Amino acid sequence: MIDYKTDADGIATLTWNVADRPMNVLNAASTAAFDAAVRRAIGDPGVKGVIVASARPEFVAGGDLDLIRGIRNAQESFAASGPVSATLRAIEVSGKPFVAVINGTALGGGLEICLACHRRIVADDPRIQLGLPEVTLGLLPAAGGTQRLPRMIGIKNALPYLLEGRKVAPAAALAAGIVDEVVPAGQLLERARAWLLADGAQAAVKPWDAKGFKFPGGAPQTPGPTQLFFGVGGGLLSKTQGLYPAPEAILACVYDGCQVDIDTGLKIEQRQFARLATSTATKNMIRTLFYAMGEANRLADRPKDVPVRRYERIAVLGAGMMGAGLAYVSAQAGLDVVLLDVSLEAAEKGKAYGAKLMDAQVAKGRLDPAKRDATLARVHTTTDYAQLAGCQLVIEAVFEDRAVKAEVTRRAEAAMDADAVFASNTSTLPIAGLADAFSQPERFVGLHFFSPVEKMPLLEVIRGARTSEATIAQALDFAKKIRKTPIVVNDCPSFYANRAFGMYPYEAMTMLGEGVNPALIENAGRLAGMPMPPLALIDEFSVELLYKAMKQARADQGEGYREQPQDHVLVTMVEKLGRIGRKVGQGFYDHPADGARRLWPGLAEVFPLAAEQPTVDEVRERLMYAQSLEAARCVAEGIVSPRDADVGSLLGWGFPSALGGALGQIDTVGAATFVEACDRLARLHGERFEVPEALRHLAAEGQRYHPA
Ligand code: NAD
Repeated sequence: MIDYKTDADGIATLTWNVADRPMNVLNAASTAAFDAAVRRAIGDPGVKGVIVASARPEFVAGGDLDLIRGIRNAQESFAASGPVSATLRAIEVSGKPFVAVINGTALGGGLEICLACHRRIVADDPRIQLGLPEVTLGLLPAAGGTQRLPRMIGIKNALPYLLEGRKVAPAAALAAGIVDEVVPAGQLLERARAWLLADGAQAAVKPWDAKGFKFPGGAPQTPGPTQLFFGVGGGLLSKTQGLYPAPEAILACVYDGCQVDIDTGLKIEQRQFARLATSTATKNMIRTLFYAMGEANRLADRPKDVPVRRYERIAVLGAGMMGAGLAYVSAQAGLDVVLLDVSLEAAEKGKAYGAKLMDAQVAKGRLDPAKRDATLARVHTTTDYAQLAGCQLVIEAVFEDRAVKAEVTRRAEAAMDADAVFASNTSTLPIAGLADAFSQPERFVGLHFFSPVEKMPLLEVIRGARTSEATIAQALDFAKKIRKTPIVVNDCPSFYANRAFGMYPYEAMTMLGEGVNPALIENAGRLAGMPMPPLALIDEFSVELLYKAMKQARADQGEGYREQPQDHVLVTMVEKLGRIGRKVGQGFYDHPADGARRLWPGLAEVFPLAAEQPTVDEVRERLMYAQSLEAARCVAEGIVSPRDADVGSLLGWGFPSALGGALGQIDTVGAATFVEACDRLARLHGERFEVPEALRHLAAEGQRYHPA
């Protein structure tokens, strides 16, 4: 795992090569091997200096999460993270110069190895990433990162790397003082040797181990950093709402650890890490953001017997908001795209959308103009269905109207290749019905993208009753090609994400209609960790949209339609008040053109406040449990798997990752507790809180959706 070599000049080279894993990672075996190599070099009197290098394209990609996933208590946490921290401290105080030769990406524990060395030389390659991204998975750098980085570059400069997981390329790392030299890749070893032989001996002591060490930018209790901690601490809580323990733990490591000597600081870091590694929030984040998303991205559930489709050319019908985004992301992924609309002008307008986005990147120096031109050249605008010949996939994104969609579908089928797949990007219309317009419904699938397409990472692949498994497999291949995370969802009205997410705005409007203070509703949504308070969110995507969906459901279901508790709020807002959302400056909020939104004071007259108000916890429970309950219904009905339900909730609508997802929340509070709460809510507020039998059974058996 670690190749060990010495030369005639007394330089030992320790080369990371974890052959049994796809990348160099820190796990029990590799850190033990590294420790042995480090001790050998330190103990060998013939060794004057040490180079730490990698035989892989990356330097070291970080810690192996399999190790962290299994941690059950503080002892196991110390056993997992303690040894490598000790090895790195041994490097630092060995009295021998160590230099890290960074040939590729060094993240997390990988960068921490470098930070412990006495010099860092990195290859001049902008694709290399350097950073400490642990926080994004609810963890902290537990091999000295929280202690060394602030001592190297100052507390203020270190915090964005630690608290936000900022990653930088070599040039920026050099400017920030994280590395010492950037050199052409071919000269890495040569530079390292030259430094070791010329300067190494004098440089083998870290500044914080030398007498008179002065903290760059001031020590924690000096005025500058003190102010900083006040500000950052408050700002952090407003972002995390106390749901995410990692940033708080990191801040504690920096604040406490930087007031003491580094050895004590490293102990503080170990303890804070143990707190995280055993916390439910962190386990939830790792399960969904790393393992579940990883499986979805790898297409773990893809039917294996279907040959992988290598996409080269696709078509998008309708160049409106969604079609334009779809054409753009597909062209970006290297595909040729036929973009068809009713007029060439409309199609060109859709193409211009991507052009504008890329122009902005070119202006910022983030995109090569030649690359922009090449991407645009792959988008072929047309009004002619004959252009669909040779396309492997045709996605329609025309108006949400059954007749328009049916017409477009028929015309497309007549022009399409016999083995091409047809997909609809409908957001509400069941796929089975739309497939009636296609003579081979087994090749018809739903591809439900979210807006804006270029930003939203989720793709719901909708399996209609007659969609074949081969078509599902090919739809998944497309998701992978354009780098979206797919979840597979069986056909039903609104599919999965919108159906479960919809409960959040619906419950908010229901409470408003009952006389719950709107400020209380909004604050409860925020405190629950949702990306936006619910009424503000409705204004954003428009009150009118929900109103129209209600009207459509009424029209579709006729006599059978059951009045929903939020319907009268929608009718009042749209029909009586014309407050249809932010696009007209008026919804549940006033949206002045030049200022911040504020709740419309008139709400109190239209929806008078009830004499007795619920607590914020009661409001939060209703907002959050309504979503989880709908997700549980979807799982019970076989619409979606528990894994995909959680991935979909995080990526589709920003459900808090600390809860692991809409189903993760049920596991987090415990199914029995959740069911009890829903039974109470059903008695108080109505049948929409009734628990599906499958969940009641799960709770009675003491089971979970995801293994503990
Ligand atoms: P849009 O109104 O912005 O664009 C529709 C486009 O289709 C227009 O350019 C129009 O000219 C074109 N069009 C209409 N009839 C056509 C025909 N017969 N032939 C060719 N082109 C035709 O709509 P949108 O918001 O992009 O939505 C498109 C589809 O995507 C709808 O089914 C919608 O439900 C779905 N969707 C929308 C969102 C969203 O947030 N807007 C999200 C997911 C899915």
